[in-house]
Amino acid sequence: MIERLSKLFVRTLREDPADAEVPSHKLMVRAGYIRRVAPGVYSWLPLGLRALRKVEAVVREEMDAIGAQELQFPVLVPRDLYEVTGRWTEYGDALLRLKDRKGADLLLGPTHEELFTQTVKDMFSSYKDFPTTLYQIQNKYRDEERPRAGVLRGREFVMKDSYSFDLDDEGLAEAYARHRAAYRRIFDRLGIDYVICRATSGAMGGSASEEFLAVSPSGEDTFVRATEGDYAANVEAVVTKPGEPRPIEGQPEAAVVETPGATTIESLLSWAHDNDATIDGHPVDAEDVLKTVVVKVTTPVAAEDGEGAGEDVRLVGVAVPGDREVDLKRLEAAVEPAAVELAEEADFAAHPFLVKGFVGPRALEDHGLEVWADPRVAEGSSWLVGGDEPDRHVLSAVAGRDFHPTRSIEAAEVREGDPAPDGQGVLELARGIEIGHIFQLGRKYTEAFEVAVQGEDGKPVTPTMGSYGIGVSRVLAVIAEQSHDEQGLSWPVAVAPYHVHVIAAAKGEEALAEAERLAGELSDEGLDVLLDDRPKVSPGVRFKDAELLGMPFSLVVGRGFADGKLELRVRGGEAGEVPAEEAVDRLLELVEQARRD
Ligand code: ATP
Ligand code: MG
Repeated sequence: MIERLSKLFVRTLREDPADAEVPSHKLMVRAGYIRRVAPGVYSWLPLGLRALRKVEAVVREEMDAIGAQELQFPVLVPRDLYEVTGRWTEYGDALLRLKDRKGADLLLGPTHEELFTQTVKDMFSSYKDFPTTLYQIQNKYRDEERPRAGVLRGREFVMKDSYSFDLDDEGLAEAYARHRAAYRRIFDRLGIDYVICRATSGAMGGSASEEFLAVSPSGEDTFVRATEGDYAANVEAVVTKPGEPRPIEGQPEAAVVETPGATTIESLLSWAHDNDATIDGHPVDAEDVLKTVVVKVTTPVAAEDGEGAGEDVRLVGVAVPGDREVDLKRLEAAVEPAAVELAEEADFAAHPFLVKGFVGPRALEDHGLEVWADPRVAEGSSWLVGGDEPDRHVLSAVAGRDFHPTRSIEAAEVREGDPAPDGQGVLELARGIEIGHIFQLGRKYTEAFEVAVQGEDGKPVTPTMGSYGIGVSRVLAVIAEQSHDEQGLSWPVAVAPYHVHVIAAAKGEEALAEAERLAGELSDEGLDVLLDDRPKVSPGVRFKDAELLGMPFSLVVGRGFADGKLELRVRGGEAGEVPAEEAVDRLLELVEQARRD
């Protein structure tokens, strides 16, 4: 097909939008692909919509190829479905809620587990109906705290979400593996540079969960990868090697020591140095200090009258080795859906037994508050801890004797150079953008909805689910993020709104007629063509626009045209002359080759 630039609904901008920080956002707005309506809410203009549809088409093909069936649920979801799972309360502020004219509560779906589960329950009743995998490609709504970077993090965005339903764990594992392979094909076809990251630590018996992260400096997610082997994981999912338990008997008694003004690890270590303090017979080091950080943990709970969200707030001491900071994101991931923040002045004021700068595990325990400890804090390990009194610490405080953590917690920061959990090399940090997530969800939703189907032996079985998402609109922005230059966008053939941009650069009717003829031939050969037929536009502006809009190939009817020569430009690559009669074949080859690569 041919689209004429003279008719296309587009207006290119020379200036970056004021609110744009990342290249994809700047360029997609400047090139007239998207247009901002409100924070995190964008219109898809014709060029953007075509590119988005191409991403969708790749996703759809690969989903269909693994036997998933497409359907579409409503965006508008009644509250009661979300009450079944408790998510009306638990989802928190990101859930967009509304009331209809009768006062009934509704929400705009942020994800659709409830609808998938309820619908399967309504329609399927026997083992013979399983397994099944369903998907949709649909707008999702989340009132993100920080919508950013155009459609990278929108409040309205397009997601492909699929769910597999199996009767046993082997079935689930197979469905998961099929999705994993399909996702690899999708992101490979789209030419994205990505890694597959372990997303859960498995510490709480969690089953397989992996995130597909596009490698990008604009990414909000930090992930680690090992210098050897193919270990990659979210920082939140990195598992710390636990300390070795040791016998408590025979260890030196805990001793209260005077540490005037030692409220930081540095000052504490210099105290230890000056006083020849030792632990386990060696001089005290930062790794021997146990830092107890007081945090406030807020857990959502249903309010007693069933109206709105209530919350349970409590203080907890988080104990990590002194050479590391507490990573609140890691901590929060470990206690989800609870939220975590550092305790504030007011919290210390309200709990005078917490002595700022000298907090230790004892006072917390004595006052009925929990202490959560880093996995390195093994039973029998000995530490220098806060003394819960001004200018005091306790030396040789032994876990399991002098203090008693109630749970092991992954809250300490992960650092470059830490050993990889699988023993292959060390970790390095990189940034990425989550483009997909596959997850063995299990029976959480089927149990909540009491889905029980008749098993082969006549007994009821509760199906187990897999959950698989792709941020379709985000993926397009990610491609722009990974593929652009100073001049503009540079789409791979798989998503470019048009394959070829034909430019009538030379003046006169004949040049335009030649451009028309070429566009016609290319279109007849099945390519999508954008034809710059705008009257009274300088060649310079045409070239600038072509670079900004980012089609993979341009064919220029320019100066050499009188001698039967055209110019063929590869976006982000070479430009060269071709004889006019060879141009179409040459382009067909180039597009074909790009599709194969
Ligand atoms: P994130 O950590 O980026 O907020 P998420 O964990 O909330 O993502 P999921 O609930 O797993 O995301 O949603 C599936 C996919 O939808 C994600 O992998 C991501 O690609 C995409 N996605 C999630 N939130 C947004 C958003 N606000 N805008 C655009 N795409 C999004
Ligand atoms: Mg999110």
